[in-house]
Amino acid sequence: MAEGRIIKALSGFYYVQSDNQQFVCKGRGLFRNKKITPLVGDYVEFEPKDDNEGYIMEIKERSNELVRPPIANIDQAIIVSSAVDPDFSTLLLDRFLVLIESKHIQPIILITKVDLLNEDQLENIKLYKQHYEKIGYRVELVSSKNQDLLPELEPYFDEKVSVFAGQSGVGKSSLINVLDPSLLLETAEISKSLGRGKHTTRHVELMKIGNGLVADTPGFSVLEFREIEAEELADSFPEFNARMHLCKFRGCMHDKEPKCAVKEAVENEEIAVFRYNHYLRFLEEIQTRKPRY
Ligand code: GDP
Ligand code: ZN
Repeated sequence: MAEGRIIKALSGFYYVQSDNQQFVCKGRGLFRNKKITPLVGDYVEFEPKDDNEGYIMEIKERSNELVRPPIANIDQAIIVSSAVDPDFSTLLLDRFLVLIESKHIQPIILITKVDLLNEDQLENIKLYKQHYEKIGYRVELVSSKNQDLLPELEPYFDEKVSVFAGQSGVGKSSLINVLDPSLLLETAEISKSLGRGKHTTRHVELMKIGNGLVADTPGFSVLEFREIEAEELADSFPEFNARMHLCKFRGCMHDKEPKCAVKEAVENEEIAVFRYNHYLRFLEEIQTRKPRY
């Protein structure tokens, strides 16, 4: 029996990387009865055969998994937000952050298209960068069109499995292409010139950037908080999480409760008002969603 990691799934075949060898495997074994489907990113035990083929016998426990794209054991999510075109939105960024935090995936924030900013706009974006850095996030201002504005990003990927996240048009494919031109993801421009839509269904594959692996498809297409309970929401706001043990009431929702340490921190400007407002907005979304059956 050998061990490896699935790096690609295609029409019922799983490509398992084991040391420096790749095995094309089919699923077999006990996990089938448990209705578990192998995912890209899974650590597996497999039975090798000749010619670099084999059978997957067991799937190791996952630290997390995504449905879209279907991938397991993700270490890091690179959230790409554009500074303009489309305009920078802290609401959207916070939505991504909450979803990623709730899956216990480490987020990194890249703000793209800074080549398009005038001085005032750049100052404004830098203020947001500071807000998020104060919370503890890593934030980089980047451009795919101007190498001078592209900091060294490859070390971010080292020894990790990362997914890119971010709305359409923010510059994810352009960024991946400049990071590693051999990957050549389709950008909007290319697909436009070929006259076809961008969102064709594809398989998922982990590709190498630097010393890390990156899913070749954007993550988090679903931006609803379906799997998050109201009581857990504040856990996904690190600056709330750091203070909520000081709230007077156990189970404080940091909403209408008196003597709430989170609200006090908002009043003292230790927590950004916009973050708190987004918290309240997400809380209401969760509280008013239809019950799940
Ligand atoms: P995706 O949908 O997130 O993958 O976005 P794309 O990479 O397809 O980029 C969308 C559009 O924005 C394309 O027309 C790109 O050429 C443009 N774009 C992407 N990054 C930058 C950037 O850093 N600066 C400028 N000026 N344009 C960019
Ligand atoms: Zn509170």
